[in-house]
Amino acid sequence: IVCGGVCVVLVISLDQAWKQVHELAMLDTLTGLSNRRDFMPAAQRELDLALRHQQPLALVVLDVDHFKSINDALGHLGGDEVLRGFARVAQENVRAGDIFGRYGGEEFLLIFPATSLLPALNTCERIRAQVEAHPWTGLLKSRVSVSIGVTQYIPGESVLEFFSRSDTAMYMAKEGGRNQVVVQEPVAK
Ligand code: GH3
Ligand code: MG
Ligand code: MG
Repeated sequence: IVCGGVCVVLVISLDQAWKQVHELAMLDTLTGLSNRRDFMPAAQRELDLALRHQQPLALVVLDVDHFKSINDALGHLGGDEVLRGFARVAQENVRAGDIFGRYGGEEFLLIFPATSLLPALNTCERIRAQVEAHPWTGLLKSRVSVSIGVTQYIPGESVLEFFSRSDTAMYMAKEGGRNQVVVQEPVAK
């Protein structure tokens, strides 16, 4: 009985340890979102599902504007707080089945399964407006804003092509003056 009890305790703690290792490997420690390692296979899975079920799929690239100046104004820890706040604002606007990840630095990715371009665009615009309106720390003189690129999956394109089109849309938002959402209409090959 004693051995049984010890074994059970051992199994439980091993299970907890494994969960912790998994979280450390897959979650971004700053925001608690998926990190790149977790996000990319999840994106590939959603792409496969979209193909199989002939469902639309939207991919969004979000990049905080002039984040270097935010760090300069608030310090690195203050910048971290802005990143956490940004993640919270965006998270409040997405559904449970959506996949939200931090790609690195101040760049984030969103996958909207079974979602076509127009509703994806509406969500992106809501995130953009709420980030702009958010009451950030009084120390920050300028507003925080985000540039967003959104595209819809074209059946047959690779995950890389899909990502690169969304990235291009995000850079167009930067070039267009930042604090805006740019959509790239899918053009079938
Ligand atoms: P743009 O509007 O063109 O995106 O300009 P930007 O300043 O946001 O972009 P840039 O890529 O020049 O600078 C990003 C900065 O983000 C540089 C880097 O020091 C900072 N950064 C990256 N990761 C972190 C982080 O985890 N925390 C903080 N506080 N800063 C970070
Ligand atoms: Mg940036
Ligand atoms: Mg960037």
